[in-house]
Amino acid sequence: MSQLDKKDPISLYPAPPYPTQDQSLPGLASAMDPKPDHGEQSYVGSGRLKGFRGIVTGADSGIGRAAAIALSREGADLVLNYLPDEQPDAEEVRDLLEGEGRRAILVPGDISSEQFCHDLVERAVAELGGLDTLVMVAAHQEVHQDILEMTTESIDETFKTNVYSLFWLSQAVIPHLEPGSSIVTTGSIQGNTPSPDKLDYATSKGAIGTFTAGLAQQLAKKGIRVNSIAPGPIWTPLQPASSDPETVSHFGEDSPYGRPGQPAELGAAYVHLVSPESSYTSGTTITIAGATPNY
Ligand code: NAD
Ligand code: MG
Repeated sequence: MSQLDKKDPISLYPAPPYPTQDQSLPGLASAMDPKPDHGEQSYVGSGRLKGFRGIVTGADSGIGRAAAIALSREGADLVLNYLPDEQPDAEEVRDLLEGEGRRAILVPGDISSEQFCHDLVERAVAELGGLDTLVMVAAHQEVHQDILEMTTESIDETFKTNVYSLFWLSQAVIPHLEPGSSIVTTGSIQGNTPSPDKLDYATSKGAIGTFTAGLAQQLAKKGIRVNSIAPGPIWTPLQPASSDPETVSHFGEDSPYGRPGQPAELGAAYVHLVSPESSYTSGTTITIAGATPNY
């Protein structure tokens, strides 16, 4: 079936309950049951990003992998960032994209380090000869029932990964971006409707929406667009790596579709935001949450 065939979104993917499963952070897509769909079989490109060069963070798995596959199939050459523990997932993505004739350069490393953020951008510029887009998908999520249990170390890890890295990567990349380039962030419906057990994560996701709206105005005169995707519940390693097995087994069950989204259901939105056809789209957030409200 191609992406252009009409299909019922409700019955398109398996619904919970899923087998109970547990992983530790950051988790691997290859260890999930059922396996997430990142668009490997379904995303069909049409040359919308021919000649584009980009960085995708969190590109080894989940939504970042789906974004990388979609951007690549539209013609973009990419640097893929992830954590060193995720090397097997990242190699799967690289092998797929290179097998299709695109460049996919693996640069593992921790974006909660300011120095690494700068190194990542410099490496990408050196490898690709310049940059046209920065697509930031990576995030850290932990579950804590009680604010009194939270340590400064864990709050730091969440904010440095989810928020500071946006500043550091943008600072490094902007001098390389020409008019017509774009930056894409990844928020969450948690930013507007926080779960009480994800206090630091949800607060960081609220900040990402604010960052996107503010930076878009700052960069408008440079002709650089800044936008965000706010996903609802999506079937990725973030869930078994940060939640208990029982919660994972029922993940997405309460959403209007009765199932979580699959990463493949987000790839086209990243393409839309990066594509030059979206020239008047800046400062916006696209919610992809299967009819779950985001307000
Ligand atoms: P995922 O685990 O597949 O992706 C998250 C990625 O973040 C990891 O693969 C890892 O490579 C990267 N990462 C984490 N810490 C890092 C660090 N310090 N340095 C470098 N990379 C790091 O999970 P996902 O669900 O695809 O998450 C992608 C994005 O989607 C995140 O921003 C997440 O907040 C957002 N999101 C996910 C959901 C969901 O239900 N899955 C819902 C809303 C928003
Ligand atoms: Mg991963």
